[in-house]
Amino acid sequence: MKPDIHPKRFETTITCSTCGTVWPTHSTRQNLRVDICSHCHPFYTGEQRIVDTAGQVDRFMRRLQTSQSQQAEAARRREEKNKPAAARMAHNLRLLLAKLTPETHSERSCRWT
Ligand SMILES: [Zn+2]
Repeated sequence: MKPDIHPKRFETTITCSTCGTVWPTHSTRQNLRVDICSHCHPFYTGEQRIVDTAGQVDRFMRRLQTSQSQQAEAARRREEKNKPAAARMAHNLRLLLAKLTPETHSERSCRWT
């Protein structure tokens, strides 16, 4: 090794913040921490679990909820918009019925006359 060109090397540990496993190691940095390790990652444990350290699942669920409520709102508006047409159709039906039986249609109570 050449003198004065190498960084200082420490005897230190790597700590997993999920399961707390500690490994001794050598590094130029001290007290290393990792989010997940081979002792607790679902790939190695075979466990069915979602690793969500960045809150991505939460973010996805929030977005899903927002889009669902927006869709529901849009559907409600569409229905509201189509209501007059439905009412008119009902009126025309009532008129047809009234032609068959005049006493069922009241001119005064019907707003479409
Ligand atoms: Zn771990």
